Amino acid sequence: AGPEPACIPPQLGEGSLRLLRRVGRVDPASLDDYRAHDGYAALRHAFSLGPEGVIRELKDSKLQGRGGAAFPTGVKWEAVARQPAQPHYLVCNADESEPGTFKDRVLLEGDPFAVIEAMTIAAYATNCTRGYVYMRGEYPQAHRALERALAQARSRGYLGDGILGERFSFEIEIRKGAGAYICGEETAIFESIEGKRGEPRNKPPFPVVEGLFGKPTVVNNVETLVNVLDVVLRSGPGFAETGTESSTGTKLFCLSGHVARPGVYEVPFGVTLRDLLDLAGGVPGGRSLQAVLMGGAAGGFLRPDELDLPLTFEGVREAKTTLGSGVVMALDDTVDLPRFLMRIAAFFRNESCGQCVPCRVGTVRQQEALARLLSGRTNGGVARELAVIAEVGQCMRDASICGLGQTASSAIESAIGRLGVFQGGAA
Ligand code: NAD
Ligand code: SF4
Repeated sequence: AGPEPACIPPQLGEGSLRLLRRVGRVDPASLDDYRAHDGYAALRHAFSLGPEGVIRELKDSKLQGRGGAAFPTGVKWEAVARQPAQPHYLVCNADESEPGTFKDRVLLEGDPFAVIEAMTIAAYATNCTRGYVYMRGEYPQAHRALERALAQARSRGYLGDGILGERFSFEIEIRKGAGAYICGEETAIFESIEGKRGEPRNKPPFPVVEGLFGKPTVVNNVETLVNVLDVVLRSGPGFAETGTESSTGTKLFCLSGHVARPGVYEVPFGVTLRDLLDLAGGVPGGRSLQAVLMGGAAGGFLRPDELDLPLTFEGVREAKTTLGSGVVMALDDTVDLPRFLMRIAAFFRNESCGQCVPCRVGTVRQQEALARLLSGRTNGGVARELAVIAEVGQCMRDASICGLGQTASSAIESAIGRLGVFQGGAA
C-alpha cells in the first residue's frame, strides 16, 4: 500500500490554495493521478520558455526563499546558471528541523511529485544534471513517499536521460540526515553529503559559486521549490498578484501550541496574525493568549496586543521578529515562560556543532545565566544576569560562523525585551 495522504486542517477557502491544492486530494503514490491534477504541466511549459525564460519569470515573480532567510530565488538561480564551472548541483533542503516547523513534511508526504517536478525545472533553468534531496532522518513517511515517486518518475521518463524527449538529463538522489539540527544549514548539508562531519563552512564563498563538491550549487527549501510550479504556470507577474508588493504569493504557516486546530495553513502574505490564529480556532479552553513565538527557536515573541501585524517579510522585520520557516506557536497564560526559555537555551547548547567559540561557549553561558535567574541565585542580581545574556547574545551574533550561533539568543532576548520576562512582566 502507498503512503497515507497527508492531512491538512480546513483552510481559508478552496480557491486560495496553491501549494496545498493537491494535498489530501491526489494519491501521492500515483504519477497518473498527479498528472490528472495538473502534474507536469509546469515542466512542459518550462521547456517551452527555455532556461533564461524560466529565470526571467522567477525574477518577475519576486519569489523569496521560504526556508527562513527570504533570499530572492531568481537571483540565486541566475547566479548559478551564469557560473562557468561545471557541473552545477541542485540541493533541495528538506532537513526541516526548526522546532515547530512541519510544512515541508506535508508537501513531501502529500504531493511528492510536485517536489520532483519543481526540482526538475530548477535543474533545467540552472544547468544542473544531478540533484539531492537532503531529508530529515525523522521523516520516514516522507522518505517512503518520495522514494516511491522518484522510482515512478524514473521509469516513466520524467527523470534520467532525455526527459520528455528534450536534450536534458537530470537525476535525483535522497540523502537522509541523522538527527543533527545543524545539518539543515546549507553548507553543513554539503559536508554531510560529501561524507564529512556536518559542520557549516564560512560564507562567502556562497554556494552559488562554490557549493557541493566545490561546484556552483542551487540550494532551495521544499516550499520554495513547490512555488516554482505556480510561477511557471501563472507567469512571474501573475504569481506576484497574490500577496503584497514585497512579499509575493502565499505562505505556509505551522500553527502549534495553544490553538484549537493545530496544523499547516496556507494564506496569502499580508493577512494578519489575528486572522491566522482565528483560522486555527484561536486559544482553546477559555484561556487567554500570553504570547506568540514567531519563526521558531531562532525567532522572536509577539504580545497579544500585536496581533494585527500583517504577516509579510517586511512587516515582521519591523516588529523585530521573523517569519522564519513559518512557525506560529501560541502560548496561553498557563505557560511558564522562563522555563520555556530554558528549553530553547538547552536546545541551542545541544545543537551547536561546537566548531566556533562564540557559539560553543556562548550557548553554554546563556543557559547558565538563565538557570541562575530561574533558581533565584543570581550572580550580582537580576540586572547583571540580564546584562550577561545581552552581552553573550551580541558576541554570538557578531562572531559566530553560521545562523545557529547568530540567532541562538534571539527568542530569549525578545522575551526579555518585549515580554518583560524576569523583569516583572509575563512570568
Ligand atoms: P542566509 O541569509 O545566510 O542565506 C540565505 C540564502 O541566500 C542562502 O542560500 C545563501 O547561500 C544565499 N545568499 C545569501 N547571500 C548571498 C549572496 N550575496 N549571493 C548569493 N547567495 C546568497 O541564511 P541561512 O543561514 O542560509 O538561513 C537562515 C535561515 O534559516 C533563518 O532565517 C532560519 O529561519 C532558517 N532556518 C530554517 C530551518 C527549517 O527547519 N526550515 C531551521 C533552521 C533555520
Ligand atoms: Fe557550529 Fe555554532 Fe559555529 Fe554554527 S555558529 S558553526 S553551529 S559552533
